[in-house]
Amino acid sequence: MAQMIDGKKIAAEIREQIAADTKKLVEETGVRPGLAVVIVGDDPASHVYVRNKKKACEQVGFYSEEHALPEQTTQQELMALLDRLNQDPKIHGILVQLPLPRHLDEQAVIERISPKKDVDAFHAMNVGKIMIGNFDFLPCTPAGVMELIHAAGVSVSGKECVVIGRSNIVGKPMAMLLLHENGTVTICHSRTQHLPEVTRRADILVSAVGRAKFVTADMVKPGAVVIDVGMNRDENGKLCGDVDFAAVEPVASYLTPVPGGVGPMTITMLLKNTLTSAQKTAQGK
Ligand code: NAP
Repeated sequence: MAQMIDGKKIAAEIREQIAADTKKLVEETGVRPGLAVVIVGDDPASHVYVRNKKKACEQVGFYSEEHALPEQTTQQELMALLDRLNQDPKIHGILVQLPLPRHLDEQAVIERISPKKDVDAFHAMNVGKIMIGNFDFLPCTPAGVMELIHAAGVSVSGKECVVIGRSNIVGKPMAMLLLHENGTVTICHSRTQHLPEVTRRADILVSAVGRAKFVTADMVKPGAVVIDVGMNRDENGKLCGDVDFAAVEPVASYLTPVPGGVGPMTITMLLKNTLTSAQKTAQGK
């Protein structure tokens, strides 16, 4: 039976440390980490994410502000807001909640955020730095996965690592972080042939596909560490991951639940990046 990796507990411990570091930063330098969250339109799920991010900021003692813009916001209006936030000394991190309404150019918006305040690490400059291995911020979800792997006491070095999914926000950076820790990494996607054969090689299997019950027991090597990034709804509308949990639990050595696995880590890493940015500001960097 797999041991559960408790993302909620690990996230709470890291947030306690972030709160302590924030208190110290404010006392010693007067700099309070500030996060601005920008949301365009009225997608209910996105509004829930934004509320959670704001609440998390308050819990660790950050300053935070929310900019909820109407669906019909123009590219120019959004760019003007980002320019203001880039200049605002109270703000150390800027997050634009994605996806944006279709009429807006998402990539141009990401590139408009100052790389120093790009706490999602989506800006091309930060992506490039991650590739080189000399980075300021790590993208939140893959960074959270690495924290979970570390907390379980699993070493990545020399292991066969398979990532299913190649998105810019999860799959690709995930593969890079595993590579930085000397994993032997394979990235799978919708054109991968004989997927179960490939995934069965994995000592560490990360699934970021977005389909319920996608990872079945026959895709998992006995004793593998299985990290489930997926956030889906099952046939009863309940939140679930990509992994067929009941079937994979007896096969894996470690497994992350959904909810309570990767999810709580993502916001935690966002807080960590915002704190890092504020610390750099305090040091005049
Ligand atoms: P995405 O952009 O839709 O990417 C999905 C990836 O899965 C693509 O690379 C796609 O391949 C691949 N894929 C689709 N069908 C496949 C198949 N049959 N075999 C192999 N690969 C297949 O999604 P994402 O943004 O990376 O997110 C992935 C999941 O993680 C979603 O459920 C999302 O909600 C969740 N997520 C969770 C968190 C969190 O905090 N827990 C954060 C971010 C995302 P192609 O490239 O070939 O199309």
